[in-house]
Amino acid sequence: MAGMKITAAVLGALAVPAPYAASRPLALTELTLDPPRVGELLVRIEAAGLCHSDLSVINGDRARPLPMALGHEAAATVVATGDPDDSLFRPGDRVVLSFLPACGECVRCLGGEGYLCANGAASNGAGTMLRGGCRLHGDQGDVHHHLGISAFADHAVVDRRSAVKIDADIPVEIAALFGCAVMTGVGAVWNSAALRPGESIVIYGLGGVGLAALLGAIAGGGQPVVAIDPVPAKRALALELGAAGAFDPAEGEAPIVALLGGKPDVVIETVGKARVLEAAYAMARRGGRIVTVGLPNPAEQFSIPAVSIVGDGKTIIGSYLGSAIPARDIPRYIGLWRAGRLPVERLLTSVSSMADINILFDRLASGEAIRQIVLPDHAAAVPL
Ligand SMILES: [Zn+2]
Ligand SMILES: [Zn+2]
Repeated sequence: MAGMKITAAVLGALAVPAPYAASRPLALTELTLDPPRVGELLVRIEAAGLCHSDLSVINGDRARPLPMALGHEAAATVVATGDPDDSLFRPGDRVVLSFLPACGECVRCLGGEGYLCANGAASNGAGTMLRGGCRLHGDQGDVHHHLGISAFADHAVVDRRSAVKIDADIPVEIAALFGCAVMTGVGAVWNSAALRPGESIVIYGLGGVGLAALLGAIAGGGQPVVAIDPVPAKRALALELGAAGAFDPAEGEAPIVALLGGKPDVVIETVGKARVLEAAYAMARRGGRIVTVGLPNPAEQFSIPAVSIVGDGKTIIGSYLGSAIPARDIPRYIGLWRAGRLPVERLLTSVSSMADINILFDRLASGEAIRQIVLPDHAAAVPL
């Protein structure tokens, strides 16, 4: 099989100043996409979501090798399999893409902790494919892959371990959300915190991941569920979705403790700021669990009174990928969405053309958008 010419949103420099509508850090660029190797899939991207983890690369909080084609939350259709006898995937299959290709062979994968896969973490950090190297090439040489996916493009080559098969009847702009926001947010509550029905839970931050955590907390029987965010429209949405209360962080602990009749059993931190994690730690009751899923700038340090870990018996849990096993969890979450118990479509702010991607990142940075979906233009793709 030959490769193809595709168009992808490529980041050429870190920390270009906002507003991005003017500075345009992402350039829609024609690239050559290699054919998939054995163990890989060529997919047509149907819909891709903008996530804070993309923004963290653009603004320099999480430096990655450049140039890099961004995007890591998507629904796609399999066009070709690198192995013609692939036992699982066939052309035409609809898939959700997951942003950590778990190799299935390292000690963490063998222990059931694929979200901590050493090989997937190494290739993601290097901006390469799990099986090594880059399949994307521009005029100046190789273009790096974002988290093994690079979904802001009309097509992509992904590892088969990045793909989870789903039913084809799910609208693509909904299906994409399951790849990052839902898997991470719901997983933080169900897998990482292991929320039990009747436990009280407070969620810091109402972006895509935080609102997905809120949906997971409500579906999982959290009682009550309380949200914290500075944006009034997001607090109003949390109340519509079933939160018992929604507060501005400036109000502090007092109104929440009053509402709950004490401190919460579980606190979920999705903001990615060390000072918010400190507040989340203080918010939890003695013996409570604090799950952190946000990704702070690596320079940030987190400080708590050391004695309180023992004295208050609290547990801090880091949650990467929502401690998920994507091929197990995504079908479960989709089943609950079908049953009306995880209304993830409420996270969807807009569906736009890929051409608007820079201004859409301004809207994500300002907090006015939750999940924005972009649709690629497939007409631009040409087989070589
Ligand atoms: Zn994400
Ligand atoms: Zn592994």
